[in-house]
Amino acid sequence: MSAILAVNNAGTAAVADPQPLLKLQNVESAYGPIKAIRGVSLQVRRGEIAAVLGSNGAGKTTILKTISGIIDPRKGTIEFQGQDITARDPAAIVRRGLMHVPEGREVFALLSVHDNLLMGAYTSSDTDAVARDIETVYGYFPILKERAAQDAGLLSGGQQQMLAISRALMANPELILLDEPSLGLSPKLTKEIFEIVVRINRERGTTILLVEQNANMALNASDYGYVLENGRIVMEDSCERLREKDDIKEFYLGMKDEGVRGERRWKKKKTWR
Ligand code: ATP
Repeated sequence: MSAILAVNNAGTAAVADPQPLLKLQNVESAYGPIKAIRGVSLQVRRGEIAAVLGSNGAGKTTILKTISGIIDPRKGTIEFQGQDITARDPAAIVRRGLMHVPEGREVFALLSVHDNLLMGAYTSSDTDAVARDIETVYGYFPILKERAAQDAGLLSGGQQQMLAISRALMANPELILLDEPSLGLSPKLTKEIFEIVVRINRERGTTILLVEQNANMALNASDYGYVLENGRIVMEDSCERLREKDDIKEFYLGMKDEGVRGERRWKKKKTWR
C-alpha cells in the first residue's frame, strides 16, 4: 500500500514506493585523468521532482550523461525501474522511458518545430496518438504552435528550451533528465519554464531529475535536492529543509548571514561522505 511522501509547491504527490524509479550507487565518471564525479549516490522517487544543485564544473552534466548512457561510469551502478542500466546503449535507455534534455537544448536547427516534435515520437507508429501528443505539448507551450512551421534554429533560446522539453515529452517518458533549463534565459522566462515543468510533473505524473546552478528556482520547483561540489554530493534533504539551511542561504541563494565567516559550515563539520 502506498502512502503520500511529499507534496511539492504545485501540490504534486510523490508516492512512497519501496523501489525508487532511479537509483545511483557510488557512481564515478571521468574524462581521461579528470575525475568529474566521485562516489555519487542518489535516488529519485516516482512522481517527484529532484534537483542536483551545484556551481560551474561541479559535475552536474556528467551525472546526467552517465545516467543516460552517453558516458560509461568507471565505478558504481545505475538502476532505472529496478533494472540495471549501467553503461547501456543510450537508445536502449530511451526505449525504457528515460529522456535526457541536454544543456544547450540541441534541437534540430534545420527542421521545423513540428518535425522536431515528430523526431521525439520516433518510437511510435500510432499517428493519431502522435497528433494528440503534439496538441498536448502545444497546450503547454502555445508559442510553439504559432511557430510550428518555422525552422527550430530560428527560435529564441527560451523557445528552443521549450521545444527541447516538448520533444522529450513526445516519447511519453517515465523520467526526464533536465540539464540547466535556466541556462542563458531571462529571469522571467526561467520562471515561466519552471512553472511549466512543475505543471508537467503534476498533470502527467512525469518524474523529473533536473540539474541547476539557479538554486532559487530549483529549490522552489523541486521536492528533494542534492548539493554537488567537486563531483561529490555534500548535502541532501527535502527542498523545504534545504531552503532553510544557512549554508544554502548564503552560498546558493545569496542571502548573507552575519554568523557565517566565509567558510561553509558543512566543511567545518566535515559532514560529507
Ligand atoms: P556546467 O554547469 O559548467 O556545465 P557541471 O556541473 O555540469 O558544470 P560538468 O560539465 O559535469 O560540470 O563537468 C565536471 C568536470 O568535468 C569539470 O571539471 C569539467 O571541466 C570536466 N569536464 C566536463 N566535460 C569534459 C570533457 N569533455 N573533457 C574533459 N573534462 C571535462
